[in-house]
Amino acid sequence: MIYLNGDFMSIEEARIPVLDRGFIFGDGVYEVIPVYSRRPFRLTEHLRRLQHSLDSIRITNPHTDAEWGDLLERLIAANEGDDQYLYLHITRGVAKRDHAFPKGVAPTVFIMSNPLLTPPKELLATGVAAITASDNRWLRCDIKAISLLPNVLLRQMAVDVGAVETVLLREGFMTEGAASNIFVAKDGVLLAPPKNHLMLPGITYDVVLELAAAHDIPYEVREISEYEVRTAQELLLTSSTKEIMPITRLDGKPVGDGSPGRMFAQLYQLYQNYKVTVMRGNTPNS
Ligand code: PMP
Repeated sequence: MIYLNGDFMSIEEARIPVLDRGFIFGDGVYEVIPVYSRRPFRLTEHLRRLQHSLDSIRITNPHTDAEWGDLLERLIAANEGDDQYLYLHITRGVAKRDHAFPKGVAPTVFIMSNPLLTPPKELLATGVAAITASDNRWLRCDIKAISLLPNVLLRQMAVDVGAVETVLLREGFMTEGAASNIFVAKDGVLLAPPKNHLMLPGITYDVVLELAAAHDIPYEVREISEYEVRTAQELLLTSSTKEIMPITRLDGKPVGDGSPGRMFAQLYQLYQNYKVTVMRGNTPNS
């Protein structure tokens, strides 16, 4: 069951006019929200980031937070599985092809839910391979834009060599992954790049830093050089659907000793515990 412009229907029934500006220009934004035990995780934060994306491309938010909450709740109930991930997609709507914004056009709103398949234990036990590439995206990577061509090409470079992610470097510094945020661990300190226009402000990124702060794990938010990435003891990847994963090979070379390290083990456990606490309702799941 999906939601499209006011109606619930099966995905097979859903139709979009070919002149939708999402199709023609990639003119839209999206969100991905994990759902655990049928409850959206960090809903307020995801809706806040959606608002930032919409504001940045000058689309009026078609719904209040309460309306979004209601739509998402109905979609979760209409789909199978306790753990799901919601995909929200808003475009500038349907209009004659012209770069300039059309007047009086309602945005297209599409929401779907899919089963949330977090990384299997066997993969977490070995870690995953990543490669590096030059970050050739635009300078508004803080917008969760549906025009993902650079990210698609960059991620495919990893897939082509049997790796799972591409770590992006811009002018000698690490920005993020093609579809994830990246952390470095060095001498027991967790390093995170600062949130700015060069990376997506990850919701999982925030959770990881909050957990580090709450559990006295030393961390620094600052620019991370390519050298620090290449000499890292640990590299961690985070995203809403992958949660936290260890990167144990980079460009064919082992990261640290080539196996998941202590920082990963600690943060992974804290993240799992936090999820359980939040889902039980003991901690505000904002
Ligand atoms: N950066 C990019 C480019 C992403 O596509 C994503 C999400 N897939 C992230 C970071 C991680 O963000 P979040 O933790 O909110 O999923």
